[in-house]
Amino acid sequence: MSAFDVQRVREDFPILRQEVRGRPLVYLDSAATAQKPQAVIDAIVRFYQHDNANVHRGVHVLSERATEAYEGARETVREFINARDAREIVFVRGTTEAINLVAQTYGRKNVGPGDEVLITHMEHHANIVPWRMLCEQTGATLRVIPVDDRGELVLDAVDALLTEKTRLLAVTHVSNALGTVNPVKELTRKAHAKGIPVLVDGAQSVTHFPVDVRELGCDFYAFSGHKMFGPTGIGVLYGRLERLESMPPYQGGGDMILSVTMEKITYNRVPHRFEAGTPNLEGAVGLAAAIRYLRSLGMDAIAEHDRALMAYGTQALESVPGLRLVGTAREKVGVLSFVLEDIHPHDVGTILDREGICIRTGHHCAQPVMQHFKVPATARASLALYNTREDVDALVRGLHKVREVFG
Ligand code: PMP
Repeated sequence: MSAFDVQRVREDFPILRQEVRGRPLVYLDSAATAQKPQAVIDAIVRFYQHDNANVHRGVHVLSERATEAYEGARETVREFINARDAREIVFVRGTTEAINLVAQTYGRKNVGPGDEVLITHMEHHANIVPWRMLCEQTGATLRVIPVDDRGELVLDAVDALLTEKTRLLAVTHVSNALGTVNPVKELTRKAHAKGIPVLVDGAQSVTHFPVDVRELGCDFYAFSGHKMFGPTGIGVLYGRLERLESMPPYQGGGDMILSVTMEKITYNRVPHRFEAGTPNLEGAVGLAAAIRYLRSLGMDAIAEHDRALMAYGTQALESVPGLRLVGTAREKVGVLSFVLEDIHPHDVGTILDREGICIRTGHHCAQPVMQHFKVPATARASLALYNTREDVDALVRGLHKVREVFG
């Protein structure tokens, strides 16, 4: 038995111990949101039972404890992604807010008419729309790195797209629609050689393999708590200290100021400058618990489990007659997107649901990449550390049922 015992891991997730539609639950939708281990649930309950108070301004014991828990969570995140300094960790609502923050602060300050922002054709809408909005606000142009038929970036096109007009490269580490793992370290090196900063969307990567922002060298890295077995409504923007310090504030309110008169406002230091209002305290506490949980399993062991299951899942799905995988990149993780003959993905999802199998169907908030593959939607099974070969086998049996129904 390997050190990573998936059956033991499953016991940590109470939600998985249930039957739905009269069958054992098979949860294959973790790329949308992941389930929570008891340790995360307990940490949130404990916080509310013992430590809850508002942070930073209080002189009383509970406020001190809450502040310690919140700032301690920041340090836990710092360590998790190997950032240099806890001030480089900004708590936000999730990946979406992290990217909007960069677009509206860094972007509004540094992007002007005639400039360009470079993204890729496989981005989630969260890493397209904020840039499109910024371009509309500033008169800049959005440029796009193309994707090939495997679902890999066309790297040969990158050099020509990184020009003296490019103000930022924004790229996903792992595609939520295809599972492609992008070579973000290499892309960052190329961009930096031309003095262009890089934002990486890490929503789908931090759960699957170790991420080291210093090794990647990127300027910004964004991810969401809820996809990494933590709570909803909390996420992280990592930004290199010198970048964050050069950026104007995002939202205005409490905690992001040092002093306010009716004439003049002095903004707080980073990261507080970007955290207006009462933060999501229990979210940060739960996120730190999720990180401790991941660390207790070991990110390398998780990566190995995910790799093996992905290989098994790919082979198993390829054995289903009429099934076409959408996205066959050489480096893939977590996501098996597919179409089954000409059966609509929603019908596939609905029939699987009757078997107790949860997958996602649709465009996965990545319509441009669906357009590239000339499909309006796919069915997507996504794999996490609690998934097993038995889950994949159940999916395959379910897909045979779908074929029978439509046969
Ligand atoms: N980017 C990617 C690659 C994603 O998969 C997601 C979530 N589906 C997001 C961004 C947005 O994350 P959130 O909804 O948690 O802000």
